[in-house]
Amino acid sequence: MTMVAMNPPPQWVDTHCHLDAPEFDADRDAVAARARAAGVGLQVLPAVKAAAFDTVRDLAHRHGLAYALGIHPLEAGQAQDADLDRLEAALAAHRDDPRLVAVGEIGLDHFVPGLDLARQDRFYAHQLRLAQRFGLPVILHVRRSADGLLRHLRRIDVPGGIAHAFNGSDAQAAHFVQRGFRLGFGGAMTFERALQIRHLAAMLPDTVPVLETDAPDIPPQWLYVRADERDARPPSRNEPAELPRIARTLAELRGWSLEDTARRTTANAVAALPRLAGLMAPHAVNPAGLAQ
Ligand SMILES: [Zn+2]
Repeated sequence: MTMVAMNPPPQWVDTHCHLDAPEFDADRDAVAARARAAGVGLQVLPAVKAAAFDTVRDLAHRHGLAYALGIHPLEAGQAQDADLDRLEAALAAHRDDPRLVAVGEIGLDHFVPGLDLARQDRFYAHQLRLAQRFGLPVILHVRRSADGLLRHLRRIDVPGGIAHAFNGSDAQAAHFVQRGFRLGFGGAMTFERALQIRHLAAMLPDTVPVLETDAPDIPPQWLYVRADERDARPPSRNEPAELPRIARTLAELRGWSLEDTARRTTANAVAALPRLAGLMAPHAVNPAGLAQ
């Protein structure tokens, strides 16, 4: 078979986008279309609560994207215990859905004050066990909570996944990597003062970084509106079409070409969430010519 020499445009994967968020109610279809036009071939839509399980699945099917099912630590307080049963039922009902790629967004938040930490812990551990049982990777929310997350991962072995918006120490990063996790980098990396995030993005092994927007949250530096400007300008909304521009920061930090950045981060996303392979355009999955 002869390979035709041709370089298709890079295809990006936004490994973390809340397309179901109310911020997108007015123009969700346009947001999805802009992302695709910008070369973001896939997005992973993690649910944050049981009421969103059907919504993210419908959106993923409607727009040709991927989704994850889980209860976010910041939602654990309002969630009912029965929501864990709803999660289990949804994972069982859709276990053969190729667009269901992970259990998430789950995890621990030790930053927001006043949360019920024991309840967060219980929801997180229960959902790790579900991921283990269904053989799915997990998408982790980690905010000042890396050690707590790792403590449970040592007890409950899951098939890896992504620690999203990672902002831990070098040692914590190494522990996640040892457990087969990829680390998510997004808008926060575009701020020059984000020294530790940029250090990690530059220094981690090639096989570790994946890209994400966390849209509508974590606006990159060029969309950010300072608190003292917010009377004059509306708060900024991040969107998945920003991913290729965010990726330029990763490319600069690592000394990669933009094409290499797309190929490598896509390959890393597929390694973290293997079901993505079945959803990608063929040239994006098989990174021909990628130096090892
Ligand atoms: Zn999120």
